[in-house]
Amino acid sequence: MPLLKVEKVTVYYGKIRALHNVSLEVNQGEVVAVIGRNGAGKTTLLKSIMGLVELATGKISFQEEDITPKPPWERAYKGIGYVPEGRRLFPYLTVYENLLMGAYTIKDKEIVKKNMERVFRLFPRLKERQKQLAKTLSGGEGEMLAIGRGLMLNAKLLMMDEPSFGLAPIIIEDVYKTIEKLKSEGITILLVEQNAKKALEVADKCYVLDQGEIVYAADAETAAKDPAIKRLYLGA
Ligand code: ATP
Repeated sequence: MPLLKVEKVTVYYGKIRALHNVSLEVNQGEVVAVIGRNGAGKTTLLKSIMGLVELATGKISFQEEDITPKPPWERAYKGIGYVPEGRRLFPYLTVYENLLMGAYTIKDKEIVKKNMERVFRLFPRLKERQKQLAKTLSGGEGEMLAIGRGLMLNAKLLMMDEPSFGLAPIIIEDVYKTIEKLKSEGITILLVEQNAKKALEVADKCYVLDQGEIVYAADAETAAKDPAIKRLYLGA
C-alpha cells in the first residue's frame, strides 16, 4: 500500500503551468528522489502535497485517505513533515525554540517532550546546542535543525526540498548520512534535488521532473546506470 499517492496533479501560477499531470507513489519505508533542474517544478510538487498551492486538477492521498481538500496543518498533523528549501529557520530563536515551533499545534506537553527526545536522539549535536541561537549554527547543523523541526509532529513521511542546497561537499555527506539514519528508523522520505548524484545513492526509487512533467521513473540503481540520466543529470 503506498503511503503517499499523487495522481494527475496539475498546478498553475497564473498562466504558468508549473506541474502537468504529475503522478507518483511513495511506499512505506522508501526513500524516493525527484530530480530535475532549476524551475522543473520540484518545490511546487512538495507544496502541492503539503497543501500550500491550489491544484487545478488531481488528487493526493496519504495512508489511503484523500487529503486533497485538507489544509496544510491537518496534513502535518496526519504525519507529513516538510523541510523547506533554504531551511527557513528562525535565526534569533534558540535551537530548542526552533524545534518547539515545529510542534506549536500540539497542546499536550508530554507529547512535545517525547517528540523532542526523539529528535535529540537522532541528532545529539542539536541536544548539545539546544540553547544556542539558530544563527550560530553551521550550514550542516542548520540543515539538521530544519530536519529535526520537520519531525516534531511525529512525521511518518518527511519531505525535503534540496537538502544539499548551499552546503559544502563534506557537509552534504553528513546530511545524506542523516537521511540514511532516518530511513533506518522507519521514516519514509520524499526528497527533491538538483544534486542527482547524492540523491540516487540514497534513494530506492527515482522520478525525473522536467518542465512540470514526470518524464522518467525507475528504481534508483537502474536510473544511476541509465546513459541518458547520466548525461543529463549526473554530469557523466
Ligand atoms: P528550484 O530548484 O529553482 O526551486 P523547482 O524545480 O523547485 O526549482 P518550482 O519552484 O516548483 O521549480 O517552479 C516551477 C515553475 O513555476 C518555474 O517556472 C517557476 O518560475 C514557476 N513559479 C514558481 N513559483 C511561482 C510563483 N509564486 N509565481 C509564478 N511562477 C512561479
